[in-house]
Amino acid sequence: MQEIRSTCPYCGVGCGVLLRPTADGVEVRGDPDHPANMGRLCSKGSALGETVGPAGRLATPMIGDQAVAWDQALDLVATRFADTIAQHGPESVALYVSGQLLTEDYYVANKLMKGFIGSANIDTNSRLCMASAVAGHRRAFGTDTVPGLYEDFEKADLVVLVGSNMAWCHPVLFQRLEAARASRGTRVVVIDPRRTPTAEGADLHLPIAPGADAALFNLALVEAERRGLLDRAYLAQVDGLEATLEAARATDPAMTGLTQGQLQQFYDLFLGTEKVITAWSMGINQSDSGSDKVNAILNLHLALGRIGKPGMGPFSLTGQPNAMGGREVGGLANMLAAHLNIEDAGHRDAVQGFWASPTMAGKPGLKAVDLFRAVEAGRVKALWIMCTNPVVSMPEADRVARAIQSCDFVVVSDMMAETDTMRLADVRLPATGWGEKDGTVTNSERRISRQRPFRKPADLARADWWQLAQVARRMGFQGFNWETPAEVFAEHAALSGVAGALGSDFDISDHAAITRAEYDALQPFLWPANARKQGGRFFADGRFHHKDGRARMIAVTPRVTAAPMILNTGRVRDHWHTMSRTGLAPRLNQHMAEPFLEVNPADATRLGLQADGLARVSGMGASALLRVTITDRVAPGQPFAPIHWTGETTSAGRVGAVVEGSFDPVSGQPALKSGAVSVEAA
Ligand code: SF4
Repeated sequence: MQEIRSTCPYCGVGCGVLLRPTADGVEVRGDPDHPANMGRLCSKGSALGETVGPAGRLATPMIGDQAVAWDQALDLVATRFADTIAQHGPESVALYVSGQLLTEDYYVANKLMKGFIGSANIDTNSRLCMASAVAGHRRAFGTDTVPGLYEDFEKADLVVLVGSNMAWCHPVLFQRLEAARASRGTRVVVIDPRRTPTAEGADLHLPIAPGADAALFNLALVEAERRGLLDRAYLAQVDGLEATLEAARATDPAMTGLTQGQLQQFYDLFLGTEKVITAWSMGINQSDSGSDKVNAILNLHLALGRIGKPGMGPFSLTGQPNAMGGREVGGLANMLAAHLNIEDAGHRDAVQGFWASPTMAGKPGLKAVDLFRAVEAGRVKALWIMCTNPVVSMPEADRVARAIQSCDFVVVSDMMAETDTMRLADVRLPATGWGEKDGTVTNSERRISRQRPFRKPADLARADWWQLAQVARRMGFQGFNWETPAEVFAEHAALSGVAGALGSDFDISDHAAITRAEYDALQPFLWPANARKQGGRFFADGRFHHKDGRARMIAVTPRVTAAPMILNTGRVRDHWHTMSRTGLAPRLNQHMAEPFLEVNPADATRLGLQADGLARVSGMGASALLRVTITDRVAPGQPFAPIHWTGETTSAGRVGAVVEGSFDPVSGQPALKSGAVSVEAA
C-alpha cells in the first residue's frame, strides 16, 4: 500500500511522517522530502504507531452518564449556549481550545466566537506556550511574524539557546544543529539555570539565576554600545534606543548569578560573531515577565541589525504542533483572524465584512488564567473545552478543577474518555485523533503542512471543526456549511488575502481557491504565499508593521524570581504534555517511568532527602509527591520537576497544582516555568 504523508502531532518542529497502515496499527517513518526533518524523527515521533490503538477512546457522545446520538448532544450544546447568551450576554460563554487543534478547527472556533457569538472569550493552551513570544513580536515589529527559518540554524556561526532544552524538546531541529556543528563548527551557548542534556554538549553553559535572562541581554546591549558595535544604519528604522539603553545601563550584573568571566565569555562570543541565532522556548515565555524577556532578546538583535538575514535573528521555538496555526486564525483572546488586530476598528470591519457576520467582538477577551477565574466567579456560565486538559496543565490546577466543577454547563471535546477534565463535563463529545484528523498545521518556521488521515474515525468520533459548525448552525448562524476541511482552509486562505491587503504578513491567498484534490496533494509550504511574496525571511529591509513602518526597542527593567526554594519545571525526552498519548507507548515509558525531583546534594543533606526516596513539594495549598534524584545538574535552592505526570489526588506528581497562577501582565502567559515551593522528605 502507498504510504500516506502526514505530520507528527507533537512539538513545533513539525516533522513530516510517512504512514503505512498495518492490520493492527501503522508503521511510521520520517518523510525524507519534508523540509523540516528530511527523514529524521525523534523518539516520540518514531513511537507514534504505538499510540493509535483504541484503548481509552471516547466512543460516543455522552450527556452525563448516558450515551446519546450526536443530534441530541449537539442540540443540547446549542440550546444551552444560546440560552446562556440570551440571559447573560455573549461574555457569559467561552471556548478554551488547544494548540493541538488543526488550523481548520481553530478557524471555525474563532469565527463562531468572535464573529457570531460576538465575544472574544476564546483562549487556548497556546497561552501557556508562546503568548509572550507573540506579545514580544508585536511590541517590537508591530506584527507577530517569526523573522527567520530553520535553515538559519545551519547557516549561523553561533546559536544561543535561552530557556530551551532543545535536545529533548525540539529534538529533530537539534539534530540539524548538531549536524551543522559537525560540518561547519557552529558554536552553541545554552542559558539555563539547570545543566540540561542540551547544556551538557554546549560550548558554553551559563547557569543563570532563575528569571534573569532579560538582565543578561540588557548587559550585552550595554556592552555592544561600549564596543561601538550598534548598527546605526539599521537603527535609523528603530525607535526606543536611548530609553532602552538607559534601562539596560541600570541592570546589576549580580542579578544574573554569573561570574564576570562568564559574562565576558558571552559578550565575546555573541558580539564577536555576526551570524547569531538566539532561540528561546518555555524558559523565557512561561514567566511573569516573559514579554520583557522576549523584547530584551529582540532589542539586542535590532540594535546589531542582525535580523531576517541568513544565519541570524531571534527565533521563537513553539512547543505545540499548531501553536502557529492558532495564531494565524486569531485563536487567542487578544487577536483577530489572519494576524489582524482586534483593537483596530478597520481590521474588525474587514473581518466582519468577509464573514458577513451579525456582530464582532469589539475588544480582547479573557486570557487563560482570567478565563478560569471568570468561571470560578460565575461570570462565565457555559464553557466548551476542546482538545486540552486544563485540570492538569493550568497553574493552580486544583483551583481550575474546582472552577470547572462549579460551572453551570461544561462541554468537553476530546478523543480520550477519561482525562481529568473530561470527568468534569456535562456533555462529552468524542473527537477524532491523530491518524483520523484531516487538515493543516503550521510549524515554528511558518511552514504549513498537511495532517492526513490513514484510517476512518474511531466509533462515532467527529472532527472538532465539524462539531463547532454543527452547533453554530443549530444556533441559527449562517456561514458554517462546509462539507470538507478543504473548504474551511480555502475560506481561511481567502480571508488572509483580505488581511494581506491591509498589510498583514500572513497572506496565503495563493490557496484561496484550493480544490479538494489540490488540498489532498498540498505540499508543505512557507507563508506568506501570495502574488507579492513567497516564504522567505522578514525585516532585513528595516520595514516593520507599526503604523510608521518602524520597529520598537522596549526598555526592560529585569525582574528575577526570589525565594528560598524555587521549583523549575520542564519536560523529559520521551513524553509530551500530560502524556495522554505518549503514556500509551511502552518504550516511551521506559526512559523515565515516574515523576521525579532533581535536588542539589546540599539541599538533600539539609532537608534529609534520600536518593530514590520520596519528596513532597508543596505550594498553593497543594502538593506533589516525587521520587528524589540527587544531582549537581541543579543549583542549591533550585529543584527541578517534569510537568507530564497527572493524578487525581494532590499527592500525585502533578506539579501544575503547586505552581502559583501568576502571569505576565502583557501577554497573560502564566509563569509555569518556576515558582516558590517548600520541599520535605515524605
Ligand atoms: Fe515529532 Fe517534534 Fe520529534 Fe519531530 S522533533 S518527530 S515534530 S516530536
